[in-house]
Amino acid sequence: MKETSINTTKFKKTVFIVNPQSGKLGGKHGIISTVKRIWGDAARDFEVIATTRRGEGERLAESAVENGCDLVVAVGGDGTLNEIVRGVMGSDTCAGLVPSGSGNGFARQWDIPLNYEEACRGLLTPEVSPCDVGMADDHLFLVTFGCGLDTLISEWYARSKIRGICSYFYHGVRAFFSYHPEEHTVSAGGETLYKGKPLLLTVANAAGYGGGTVIAPSAKCDDGILDLCIVEPLSLKATLINLPKIFDGGIQNIPQYWHYPIREITIHRNRRGPIHVDGDPFDAEKEISVKVIPSAIKIALPAR
Ligand SMILES: [Mg+2]
Repeated sequence: MKETSINTTKFKKTVFIVNPQSGKLGGKHGIISTVKRIWGDAARDFEVIATTRRGEGERLAESAVENGCDLVVAVGGDGTLNEIVRGVMGSDTCAGLVPSGSGNGFARQWDIPLNYEEACRGLLTPEVSPCDVGMADDHLFLVTFGCGLDTLISEWYARSKIRGICSYFYHGVRAFFSYHPEEHTVSAGGETLYKGKPLLLTVANAAGYGGGTVIAPSAKCDDGILDLCIVEPLSLKATLINLPKIFDGGIQNIPQYWHYPIREITIHRNRRGPIHVDGDPFDAEKEISVKVIPSAIKIALPAR
């Protein structure tokens, strides 16, 4: 699913921002020492900083930009990359990713190696591509925004001490039996696109949440378009029959699924409530504006 890259470059000053909490526990010292070994051997000007709390990546990325860094690399998952992009957006500084999250939806979209040593080495000679960013009110997203069942999963996962894809699956099953779909109306340009009680109401910049899921099979991060994806409630039997289609790229064959390319929509709910952006939960107003900012950032991709 690799997008169209525009050029290659070699960065002068790089900061790696490591989220020690992302993905599976353990192994992060391995990533830090790998970064230092590979980039040290290449005699590059770089620094490695670990975050100590949620949200700190944005401030660290802003500082890196102010200090003249031309590349800031998130070492973590989609949530960590989201923080770094908030810090570099609006500058000429590129964002990069060494994936070590639970789902790695962004890395899968761009064919960034999930092997962190390979991803780290590839960034020594990267390609640079423009990348769209989605906005849900003031919340930026690179992969997905959601206000349905996926929000409940992200809330429970955020509170869980157990990280990793198995934990996501566990909370997914729990959420399926607990979630009560609420009425949503989606409109664009004064026209109603959807009105109903969806199980999933997701806007995708990338094809999947991560972990091999595919919610918007044709999504690209550099086409200036977001994919509105809706799944209507399914019975348990229909869910079990159709579950493999969420992983094999065949979700469009589920009768209760439809998707629509959008640039800007408004989502109306009966009350304020939770949303998620890139798997991180937030509270939001009952009316949410979602739009794309085309080519909002430059993304550095490991060379092949
Ligand atoms: Mg797109």
